Amino acid sequence: MKGLMMDYPLTLVTIFERVGKLFPKVEVASRMADRSIHHYTYGDFYRRTKKLANALKRAGIKKGDRVATLMWNHYGHLEAYFGIPLAEGVLHTLNLRLHPDDIAYIINHAEDKILIVDDVLLPLYQQFADKVKLEKVVVFPLTGKKHEGPFIDYEDFIGPESEEYEYPQFDENDAAGMCYTSGTTGRPKGVLYSHRAIVLHTFGLGLGANFGVTQKDVMSPIVPMFHVNAWGIPFLGVMIGAKQVFPGPYLDPESLMDLFIKEKVTFTAGVPTLWLGLLQVLEKNPDKAEQLRGLRLAVGGAAAPEAMIRAYDKLGMTIIHAWGMTETTPLGTVSILKSYMEDLPEDKKYEYRAKQGLPVPFVEVRAVDDSGKEVPWDGKTMGELQVRGPWIAASYFKLEGSSDKWTEDGWFRTEDVVTIDEEGYIKIVDRIKDVIKSGGEWISSVELENALMGHPAVVEAAVVAVPHPKWQERPVAVVVLKEEYRGKVTEEELKEFLKPKFAKWWLPDRIIFVEEIPKTSTGKFMKRAIREQLKDLKLD
Ligand code: AMP
Repeated sequence: MKGLMMDYPLTLVTIFERVGKLFPKVEVASRMADRSIHHYTYGDFYRRTKKLANALKRAGIKKGDRVATLMWNHYGHLEAYFGIPLAEGVLHTLNLRLHPDDIAYIINHAEDKILIVDDVLLPLYQQFADKVKLEKVVVFPLTGKKHEGPFIDYEDFIGPESEEYEYPQFDENDAAGMCYTSGTTGRPKGVLYSHRAIVLHTFGLGLGANFGVTQKDVMSPIVPMFHVNAWGIPFLGVMIGAKQVFPGPYLDPESLMDLFIKEKVTFTAGVPTLWLGLLQVLEKNPDKAEQLRGLRLAVGGAAAPEAMIRAYDKLGMTIIHAWGMTETTPLGTVSILKSYMEDLPEDKKYEYRAKQGLPVPFVEVRAVDDSGKEVPWDGKTMGELQVRGPWIAASYFKLEGSSDKWTEDGWFRTEDVVTIDEEGYIKIVDRIKDVIKSGGEWISSVELENALMGHPAVVEAAVVAVPHPKWQERPVAVVVLKEEYRGKVTEEELKEFLKPKFAKWWLPDRIIFVEEIPKTSTGKFMKRAIREQLKDLKLD
C-alpha cells in the first residue's frame, strides 16, 4: 500500500519563495571591489533574482541550458545561484583559480551558452575568450561602475525586466547546478546537481545535529561560491532566512577579521589555510578576537590540524571539522562529539574532533580493502571510503555509466583512504593513489609525513611508495631540513625518531634529504613528480 501524501517536488523555487515572503527585511552584505560593504535585503534579492530569471529567458535560455558564472562571493553571485535555476538553466560555477586553458576546456565541455563575469575578472576572461563560443557575456559591476565595453552590463540586462516571474513546471530531478572536479588526475569532470539533491543537502547542512545554525546566525561563506556551491551555505542562508555576509575578492585574514566584526558574523566556512592565517592575526589582536568570541568556523577541503582546533578554543571560537567532495554536494561527514563524550579526557575529545567525523544523516559510508571486503570499524584497519546517498553523484556529465568511480553495487568510490572507529568516526589517512601497499598491508603516507614534520629539524617531508621486489611497495621519505640542521641531522637519527611511533614495517626504507619538494598550484605535495624523481632508486 502506498502512503497517501502529496507528491510535492523538492525544488529551489520553494526555498526562494519562502525567503521572499517571510524574510524580506533580513540583510545580505557583500564586500565590493573598492572594499566598501554593499548592503541590501532578501526583499531586494527576491525582486532582482526574478528579473534575472526573466532576462535569461528573454536571452533564449531553455530548460537544461548551462549558464556559467566567473565571480567572487557577493550578492550578484547569489542572484545567479537562484536566477539561473529558476529560469530552468543550470548554474555552472567556474573556478577562477584554474589555468585559462582549463577554464576554456570546461566551458566547451559543458557547452555553456551565457557567461556572467565580474568586471574585475574580465582580464581573466580575455585570456581564454578566443577559445570559447558563448552566445552572450554579461558583466557584473563589482567595481560599482557600469560596463561600457563590448559586453552587456548586468544592470542593463536585468533592469528592464518585470519583478513578476511565472514559474515553469519543475521536476525535482531536473538539473539545477554544475561544478567540475579539480581533476588532480586526468581532465576535470562535471558533476550535475539536481534540484532535489540540492534541497535535501540544504536540509542536511541545516540540521542542528551538524552545524547547529539557525535564522539568528549571521552566515559568511568564505569558501568560494565556485567551490561546490560554497558548500551549500548560500542555499542554506536563503532557506532559513539567515543574514549572509560575502567577502568579495578580499580573502586575506585582516579583511576577514574586519568583515566578521563589522557584520557580526557568527558562522563561517573555509579551508584550513584560511583559518590558520586568521588565527595568527587574531592572536596578535586580542581585543578584536574578543569581539568574535562565539564564532563557529566550519573547516573542510583538507584536514584541520588538531593544534588549530585547540588554539581557536582558547580564543572562545569553535572549529567544526567536516569532510566532503564535489561529487557529494559536498557534505559527507561532520565531527561533532556525542552527548556522552563530553566527560572524556581533553586529549581524547580533541582526537575525535580532529577526525573528519560522523556521516551525516542519509550519507551511508563503508570502508573497503583491496579485495573489495568491508574493513572492521576498529579505528585501525584502512580501507577506501565509499559513500552513497541522495546527494551523491551517480555519474559524471557526458560520461554516464563509463567510470570506474562507482562500484558494481552502486557506491561512489571517494579514493580517500580512511579508518572508521568503533563510534563511527571517520579519519582520512591518505589518498588511494598515495597510500603505500607493502606486503598486502597499507601504510599511510600522511601519518609518516606528519610524524617527520614533528621533528624540530624538519621543514617539510613527503612520503611516497617505491616499488620493491619482495614487498611490492615500500615507503621512501624526501625531507627538507631547516638551514641550520643541514649536514648535521642523519637519516638514522630521523628513523630513530619515528621508531617509537610506528610498527617496524611502517618505517621508511630510505629518508632522502632534498632542497625542496615539488608542489601543485594549491600547495599540495606533487607525489607523482616525487615518484618520478625516485624512479631509479633500487630497494632491496
Ligand atoms: P574537492 O572535490 O575539490 O572538494 O576535493 C575533495 C577532496 O578533498 C576529498 O576527497 C579529500 O581528499 C579532501 N578533503 C576534503 N575535506 C577534507 C578533510 N576534512 N580532511 C582531509 N581531506 C579532506
